[in-house]
Amino acid sequence: MSKPLQARIASYTTAKEARERGVYPYFRPIESAQDTEVIIHGKRVLMFGSNSYLGLTNHPRIKEASQKAIEKYGTGCAGSRFLNGTLDIHIELENRIAAFTGKQAALIFSTGFQVNLGVMSCLTGRNDYLILDEYDHASIYDGTRLSFSRVIKYAHNDMADLARRLSVLPEESVKLIVIDGIFSMEGDIARLPEIVSIAAQYGATVVVDDAHSLGVIGKKGAGTASHFDLNDQVDIITGTFSKSLASLGGFVASDADTIDYLKHHARSLIFSASMTPASAASVIAALDILENEPQHMEQLWSNTHYAKHLLTEEGFDIGESESPIIPIYVRDNEKTFIITSLLQQDGVFVNPVISPAVPSDASLLRFSLMATHTFGQIEEAVAKLAKAFSRAGVVRVKERIK
Ligand code: PMP
Repeated sequence: MSKPLQARIASYTTAKEARERGVYPYFRPIESAQDTEVIIHGKRVLMFGSNSYLGLTNHPRIKEASQKAIEKYGTGCAGSRFLNGTLDIHIELENRIAAFTGKQAALIFSTGFQVNLGVMSCLTGRNDYLILDEYDHASIYDGTRLSFSRVIKYAHNDMADLARRLSVLPEESVKLIVIDGIFSMEGDIARLPEIVSIAAQYGATVVVDDAHSLGVIGKKGAGTASHFDLNDQVDIITGTFSKSLASLGGFVASDADTIDYLKHHARSLIFSASMTPASAASVIAALDILENEPQHMEQLWSNTHYAKHLLTEEGFDIGESESPIIPIYVRDNEKTFIITSLLQQDGVFVNPVISPAVPSDASLLRFSLMATHTFGQIEEAVAKLAKAFSRAGVVRVKERIK
């Protein structure tokens, strides 16, 4: 390896240092299915860090659909959708997604990340604008780097800032406002009614990334536009199959012409292999469950309310969450790692989120609920959280007020 590259790799010490201190929290190998309890190093650990909001990743009907798809189509498609990699179940899934999101058409990609790369990079040109909430997901930001248009960031959920920034842009330019429906770390919901009205005032198009909203809000879990009854005002919806829909892959849904345009321009679609048959079939089976069994979403919300109630009673700072994603603020990177590690030893898995993913004074534990958690599991996790905070010497809001 060349000396400059060796030097660059050697200069990265953060992970090494965390390992030396025994608090490295990433790439923890799970030895079981992603359920409310998982096995790590042979030990039972309560899972409060999953994006499987409806708890469907180990559902027998979804597993069966995926196995049947392997039997029929094999394990891979050996090519891109554009050429030899389109299966009839890809088309079936696109039709299901279009109907589910209330749009004319949909296009599926191999991951949600690739959806955002494709959509951001090819809908705007040199004299156009992508207008993003500062807390939008990394895949949206990375997509803008592949676009030749200008990127404008507005303060998180700050509608006055959004309007101010739009008001100075040229009328004839393409302007895409791109937002997370539910923000992935903070768990709050985008101010969609105001956003669509500001967009209409300044001639902008709205794109909502519903990665964390599907199966969580809206009619039968159809997402943010449905939640606010604004389907007609949201032009483009993107999303992933890797969370509530228990699989892997992603989609964009819109009017038929926009989808046809994306089909022929989105490079992350055209130059990448298509979704595996098993992944596509499992999403179809998961959609069947979402559309016919409302009890999963109801239970998710009942668990969310219960967890919020307990966390607030225990005096944790949980920000402005409006969803099953609950940030528990620590506001110190090192202590966030220490608490994550103490919790892991005590049998609870949570995700640490530190800078640069969030501002350094906003480091947090991302605590997320699943429909399949029991109240007993939630009580156990909250009690262990309180214990870990005390052992790490982190003062909770309740204690600060005393
Ligand atoms: N958008 C958002 C808001 C996300 O949180 C994520 C994944 N965390 C993605 C897109 C990417 O989805 P995928 O996992 O399917 O690549």
